[in-house]
Amino acid sequence: MRVLVVEDEARLAATVRDLLELDGYTVDVCRDGESGLDNALSGIYDVCLMDVMLPKLDGFEAVRRLRNEGCGVPVLMLTARSDLSDRVRGLDCGADYYLTKPFEPKELLACVRALVRRQPELRDTGILEYGDLRLDKNGFQLSCGERSIHLSRKEYSLLELLMLNRERVLEKETIFLKIWGYDSEAEGNNVEAYISFLRRKLAHLHSHVHIRTVRMAGYCLEKAPETAG
Ligand code: CA
Repeated sequence: MRVLVVEDEARLAATVRDLLELDGYTVDVCRDGESGLDNALSGIYDVCLMDVMLPKLDGFEAVRRLRNEGCGVPVLMLTARSDLSDRVRGLDCGADYYLTKPFEPKELLACVRALVRRQPELRDTGILEYGDLRLDKNGFQLSCGERSIHLSRKEYSLLELLMLNRERVLEKETIFLKIWGYDSEAEGNNVEAYISFLRRKLAHLHSHVHIRTVRMAGYCLEKAPETAG
């Protein structure tokens, strides 16, 4: 899952990034409200953490514009302010939740999990299952029956995305943006490379699940049709 952190204070941004990455999220950081809003509007994020006092555009205004554009990404406002009027203002602008600095790491992670759970298609239990596959966020472990294999962080993110969108065609461009993001120096053919890594691992596990290439469109995670015997 991909989280956008909009925070101008470098040290706090780095701490939050580390915390979320340790918990298995892919994280992008923006240092001002304007670029934060632009990134959030991309639709590639599952959760957005937004500071209030930001250069160029404050967090309240960024969230208000985000909602005006019809973007429903769950937003957690992070701020040093604890005034009731500010909390109310944040929620009125369209934020989903409010966390006052300084916060405990556990509290932040719990808030992010709560926001992820609000989206019906995402369940952050740490375990995803499809067909004979079981993907465990803990240790990025992929199992099939008795067999089990470790995935790299990128392989994990890619398979998680495919499993959340099972039996739907995902465009290569969408996959690239979700996994590598805008700032990345990665190239489009990274998607092909990582799809082939995952295919090798699925074959190694003797899974009935496979990644189908849909010509001119993208990729689709599917179960193989039942074979006789
Ligand atoms: Ca700030």
